[in-house]
Amino acid sequence: MSNVRVRFAPSPTGSLHLGNALGAVANRRFADEHGGALLLRIDDTDPARNAPGGAEAIVEDLGWLGVGWDEGPVRQSERFVRHREAAHLIGEPDSEGALRFGRTTLLRPDSTPTYQLASAVDDLDFGITHVIRGSDHRPNAALQASLIRALGGEPPEYVHHGLLLGEDGRKLSKRHGAASLADLREAGFPAEAVRAYLEELGLPRHDVHLDLARLRRLSTEALAALSDEELAARVGVPVSVAPVLRGARDLAEARAYAAQVLEPPAARVDAPETLARFRELVESGLEPKAVVRELKAVGGDLKAVRLALTGAERGPELAAVIAALPRDELLRRAT
Ligand code: GLU
Repeated sequence: MSNVRVRFAPSPTGSLHLGNALGAVANRRFADEHGGALLLRIDDTDPARNAPGGAEAIVEDLGWLGVGWDEGPVRQSERFVRHREAAHLIGEPDSEGALRFGRTTLLRPDSTPTYQLASAVDDLDFGITHVIRGSDHRPNAALQASLIRALGGEPPEYVHHGLLLGEDGRKLSKRHGAASLADLREAGFPAEAVRAYLEELGLPRHDVHLDLARLRRLSTEALAALSDEELAARVGVPVSVAPVLRGARDLAEARAYAAQVLEPPAARVDAPETLARFRELVESGLEPKAVVRELKAVGGDLKAVRLALTGAERGPELAAVIAALPRDELLRRAT
């Protein structure tokens, strides 16, 4: 066990921003590489940034991403007595009741601690050895180090990583559809793909642009690596449907594929000869791949078969659809 101690310290604004998730993954990795410990700290000193359920959303996000922590969660608001005490070791309140260190407010006139004070005190008290965070906090490092020295402590090493920006180079936001882990989850990206993407980025020295194409490839790979049981469970369908889900590039697509089989289609198909031939082949007991092959051989309209069976023009492999449906259901849909 080394003495390396890091912390991940999000503000409870709701589902983790992807850039913050990068910091969580980087801190976990740093702790693991050094046999150290990771503290989860919720920076809730700024009432304007405290969303209801914000901390719970973060805990859920970290669980989804598979990032565990060794200590905490500690809420900064629970430590206000210590923060206030520390502020009084550093200076004295002014006539308005606020306490400042140079130009920086440490205690507001109502004597509540600010982020700068709370963060420095907590980094000191929890024995944090390395602060790893986004470069938007670079301007805070010198001040926080002086506060820690003023309290008689030794500042941690500060490491700032580049920020994750949208593909257009602007700050990641809702508009990009991938700003938060909740957005990505909703878009059907499996956690493994998001984690792998963040691990790949590592600790970027400079700002990086989100590479959605890369994330999509990782998503396809992650789904391909799941067992039938696991894949079906993620999509929420019986394992017999798993073959239909193969080839889907994300879980949203997999759910859409499953729906084509599980929910009766509503398409009108005008290809009586092909459908009659299809019914014959199915009734003869041919296995699904052979049914497709035979239909192809006689120049059958495979698109019409797909449309009749799934109600859609595109979707999973046709043989997999045929395999997933009971014979009488196949005959019913192909009428
Ligand atoms: N709570 C800050 C944020 O979410 C991070 C503070 C820090 O890492 O020092 O941006």
